[in-house]
Amino acid sequence: MRRIIRILRNLALLLIAAVVVLAGVLGVNALMRTSRQIDVAAAPRAGVDTDAASKRLAEAIRFRTISNFLDPEQNADAFRGMQAFMQASYPAFHAATKLEVVGNLGLLYAWEGSDPKAAPIALLAHQDVVPIAPGTEGNWQVPPFDGVVRDGFIWGRGSWDDKGNLFAILEAAEQLIKEGFRPKRTIYFAFGQDEEVSGQRGAKQIAALLASRGIKLDFVLDEGLLITDGIMKGIDKPIALIGVAEKGYVTLTLNLAATPGHSSMPPRQSAIGMMSAALARLEDQRFPAEIRGTVREMFDTLAPEIHAQPRRVVEPVAAQAGAAT
Ligand SMILES: [Zn+2]
Repeated sequence: MRRIIRILRNLALLLIAAVVVLAGVLGVNALMRTSRQIDVAAAPRAGVDTDAASKRLAEAIRFRTISNFLDPEQNADAFRGMQAFMQASYPAFHAATKLEVVGNLGLLYAWEGSDPKAAPIALLAHQDVVPIAPGTEGNWQVPPFDGVVRDGFIWGRGSWDDKGNLFAILEAAEQLIKEGFRPKRTIYFAFGQDEEVSGQRGAKQIAALLASRGIKLDFVLDEGLLITDGIMKGIDKPIALIGVAEKGYVTLTLNLAATPGHSSMPPRQSAIGMMSAALARLEDQRFPAEIRGTVREMFDTLAPEIHAQPRRVVEPVAAQAGAAT
């Protein structure tokens, strides 16, 4: 009996020691993490007039540039209207760059750099938006295509996906050109017209055109995610999410043949049951959830910003943004 007590006591001591060591390691680990944030206030910035810029984006929202997978001409007037508005609003940009229209409504601008040996880059944004689901017009706090600036927000379809991006790029470039800036490397601006319906006429053709000229881009910056508020417990500051990839998708058609019969004498296995079982099996085949690669890097970047103790508890809450990109 005494031997058992001694063993139990030793085990308890060992357990306590292990917990102390683990807490120490985690504590040191948490303290060792230093913020990776850059000093945003110290970064050079273009003096964009935010009020005027907001009004321009609001105006852009009023053009109903809804793309259609089958009909490239649907809403072509809205696209052309918005393009004319871009031309009128950003004269310095249009004077400094060379524009090529690709695939009828796609736009490819080139801003030539001062160093012809420097590899070019491309900034991407799409002009089109998705339609409004019929019958949901009344659910909008502000009508989707009115382009209203209210309470510090620009409201409407496309305000962030992706006219916000498109017009932010134009605002920044216009201002930089006015300030006499010229990039060292050539910058391409590729503004497709059908990203929401696969990008066959816009992005694909622009990419093919650049490839046919042997142009190799050093990097491409496309629409990303949002600057979010409150998605991570313990971080009060807004978090800018950087999208480094986009999920693909697959469409499957499931067919099955079953023996027909009368419903008064149903077979043990009906077509509905078999199809349901197949669908349920399909749903079970998910990728395992893992924290590695860029996801891990995201948590490593966020960890030092968490003020609540203990920092090692990083608990994501439901993401706010679920819209298509
Ligand atoms: Zn998008």
